[in-house]
Amino acid sequence: MYDLIIIGGGPAGYAAALYAARAEINTLVLEGSLPGGRISLTDIIENYPGVKEKLSGFDLSQIMKNQAIEAGAEFKMENVEKFNYENNTFYLKTYSSEYSKIPSVLIATGTNDKKLSVPGEKEFTGRGVSYCATCDGPFFKDKKVAVIGGGDSAVKEALFLTKIAKEVIVVHRRDKLRAEKIIQKKAFNTPNMYFQWDSIVEEIIGNNSVEKIKLKNVKDNNTKTIEIDGVFILIGSIPNNSLFKDLNITDKTGYILTDENMKTSIKGLYAAGDIRVKSLRQVATAVGDGATAAVQIQEYLETL
Ligand code: NDP
Repeated sequence: MYDLIIIGGGPAGYAAALYAARAEINTLVLEGSLPGGRISLTDIIENYPGVKEKLSGFDLSQIMKNQAIEAGAEFKMENVEKFNYENNTFYLKTYSSEYSKIPSVLIATGTNDKKLSVPGEKEFTGRGVSYCATCDGPFFKDKKVAVIGGGDSAVKEALFLTKIAKEVIVVHRRDKLRAEKIIQKKAFNTPNMYFQWDSIVEEIIGNNSVEKIKLKNVKDNNTKTIEIDGVFILIGSIPNNSLFKDLNITDKTGYILTDENMKTSIKGLYAAGDIRVKSLRQVATAVGDGATAAVQIQEYLETL
């Protein structure tokens, strides 16, 4: 019997597990096939306070996880397939187990890659189209690749790719990047990194693998086709909310609404990290959410 089940193993879930276990709450973390969440795909974490040496997202997340395990939290690699709420307790079903009468649940399921939804994207995924430079970058040694997007993910991954590929072209729909200024500065000073401003991808073209992309300039509507070996799509995220869609706890865009204590409108149900409606999605803010949620959960459990 667990007092708390945390769904999702990313920085928010790991921080909550650490705090909950230290408060002697019987805690289980159910994580899917990507322990550490999206951060584990990040090449180097540069802005997590206190960590100055070059640490990969994967290494940082494993340190967090091990710390929670040492504190007493239990971890299982099981995807939750069913989630119900009844009589102030929760029921969860995974492919191998059922958990019932759980008094508190923390949703820390994070987000997934947003798709461009253009012709060729689906067909060439895994054959030149990728959503992760650190995973697939090495396939493009000395090749020419395009990175779509202008946020932190796109520019950071593009910088990573400049160390492998011959040429990296960042295609952005505006003429200003959204990425952190310090990352922008690095990008503008990298010789094999180029920018296609005010441009959107209309089509990804190829035979067995990607060969070209068709771009449209949104200011003058001119189109052009450029030869390319790979396309990395990094245009943001969508919330992993499929289990919670019927609970009426999300906003219009699908992110979970909580108060500042991470409480949803359902008693005993909390949310933390990127899945939550919030202004800044970073490891630092996810960890803060997780810690806050765990303390609030402890207080809630004490009232039962
Ligand atoms: P963001 O939402 O920050 O950026 C998405 C980018 O993709 C924007 O430039 C956006 O353009 C563009 N875009 C969105 N939709 C489309 C579309 N349909 N077609 C073309 N372009 C599109 O997402 P990120 O994944 O970059 O970052 C998510 C969060 O994670 C952010 O809070 C970010 O700061 C954080 N992060 C931090 C890192 C770090 O090391 N500090 C690393 C990675 C992520 P536009 O600008 O015009 O809206």
